[in-house]
Amino acid sequence: MNLILISMGVLGVTALVAAILLYFVSQFFKVEEDPRIDLVQAVLPGANCGGCGFAGCRNFAEACVKAGNTEGLACPVGGEPTMEEVKKILTPAAADESAAPAAQEGDKKGFDPAIAAKIKALATPRATFPNLIAMVHN
Ligand code: SF4
Repeated sequence: MNLILISMGVLGVTALVAAILLYFVSQFFKVEEDPRIDLVQAVLPGANCGGCGFAGCRNFAEACVKAGNTEGLACPVGGEPTMEEVKKILTPAAADESAAPAAQEGDKKGFDPAIAAKIKALATPRATFPNLIAMVHN
């Protein structure tokens, strides 16, 4: 009986130490990623067809965010409407509230206030991928 209890204790302590060690290692190797990549990916069609010249939508989103604009980048599946959405996400000035009145006055080239609110919400460091998806589709 004692042998069973000792075995359980040793295994329990080993599991606890391993869990703590894994937690700190994961924190040390954590990769910080620009949250706009998730937003851009969310507005892409998600076909992962490679028509844009990249391996998939995620790679295309990363390239757009890295470039900071959409010059020379295009998603033939989503077309111009998708690229307009990507532009809105990538243009920080477009998130400025000063651009919102132009959109409300019916100027189709103005920035959508809903997108501005979504980008501002990204400023919260605890934004997570499911939340980003929910923001984009709401
Ligand atoms: S062309 Fe569009 S749908 Fe196809 S992989 Fe590129 S971004 Fe995704």
